[in-house]
Amino acid sequence: MFDIQEIRSQFSILNQEVNGKPLVYLDNAATSQKPNSVLEAYNRYYTEINANVHRGIHTLSQLATEEMELSRRKIQKFINAEHDFEVIFTKGTTEGINLISYILTSELKKDDEIIISYLEHHSNIVPWQMLCERTGAKLRVIPMDENGVLQLEYLDEFLSEKTKVVSLNQVSNALGVVNPISEITSKTRAASDAYIIIDGAQSAPHFKIDVQALDCDFFVFSGHKMYAPMGTGVLYGKREILEKLPPFQGGGEMIATCSFDGTTYAGLPFKYEAGTPNVGGNIAIGAAVDFIERVGHENIQNHENALLEYAQRQLLEIEGLKIYGEKAHRTGVVSFNLEGIGISSDVGMILDKMGVAVRTGHHCTQPIMDFFDIAGTVRASFAVYNTFNEIDVLVEGVKKAKRMLA
Ligand SMILES: *Cc1c(COP(=O)(O)O)cnc(C)c1O
Repeated sequence: MFDIQEIRSQFSILNQEVNGKPLVYLDNAATSQKPNSVLEAYNRYYTEINANVHRGIHTLSQLATEEMELSRRKIQKFINAEHDFEVIFTKGTTEGINLISYILTSELKKDDEIIISYLEHHSNIVPWQMLCERTGAKLRVIPMDENGVLQLEYLDEFLSEKTKVVSLNQVSNALGVVNPISEITSKTRAASDAYIIIDGAQSAPHFKIDVQALDCDFFVFSGHKMYAPMGTGVLYGKREILEKLPPFQGGGEMIATCSFDGTTYAGLPFKYEAGTPNVGGNIAIGAAVDFIERVGHENIQNHENALLEYAQRQLLEIEGLKIYGEKAHRTGVVSFNLEGIGISSDVGMILDKMGVAVRTGHHCTQPIMDFFDIAGTVRASFAVYNTFNEIDVLVEGVKKAKRMLA
């Protein structure tokens, strides 16, 4: 049974007024709210356990280590990784992609190629541009069509022995478009021995993830977009690859032995976790995984898809409203503009007065905005706790904005 009120009751923050109106939080693609169980896990760590991990012989240190490793195993199951040590804690998707692009430096040489797409977040563009600068490799960008759908014939054309990296998101944060990752990975495997990296920042909160079925080499996501605290994230990497590639940061925790004659590195996952980790946050990701599994992936998907369909149907009844990626297979996001209203933040401000939180602007995806020749969009994005009534409030707000700004 999917009981939306019961779910909402687990998110105290939702039960408040903003600008005198009940909060309607539709900025989940930027960050989700956190259920009480996640906050309690985080709090409990600091009130009852707080100690550094892996080093101490004392009881609290052992407890901290056990809880963090338990969370790692929950995440392993959550993404169906083969081994728990393939799960590396990071501070988010951005750090994950930067880590990967850094450790791949010596794998690339001049004129090798890195394939990304038009649909990427800046954090899946800029680290690759930086890697190109370091190595002389070239970036190739899969175009999209008017619906925000990737034109995969270009992938076929781009793929060759020169392709060393293919890095794409599973779901676009700006449009909510779902990319056909399995098709992309099988095409890539057939034509090259490129490393395949999936940016799962917008898919992990919504779908069941199976990194083995996806056949990717790396999969990265952010904890804070899937009900866990900020400053948390996960990098999955295949064992053989993580064992082969060099470390990212050097420091404590990541060494086996350290002397002035030389240092040997720790095994996985610690090789990639230099320094004191965000123990409380990492434990809380495990609580977020528990929350998602208690609600059930299928319930989450069904509910969020129903919200999206309902929102889209109602919004399209507003004359002059354009949804970007309208005809594409999407999840969790509706991104739109009103005809004649060039500044999306004007709409966002009126919605805010009505208690509705949406994101406006370029959503860290300027190439997508350039493609549509716009400065930004109004983006409403959904989580499991959103209701149909909240969509009604959004739609009323957009109608009001249209009247006020037209
Ligand atoms: C949010 C997001 C990122 C960046 O995540 P951070 O948590 O800010 O590091 C990368 N890619 C996509 C698709 C995102 O939605």
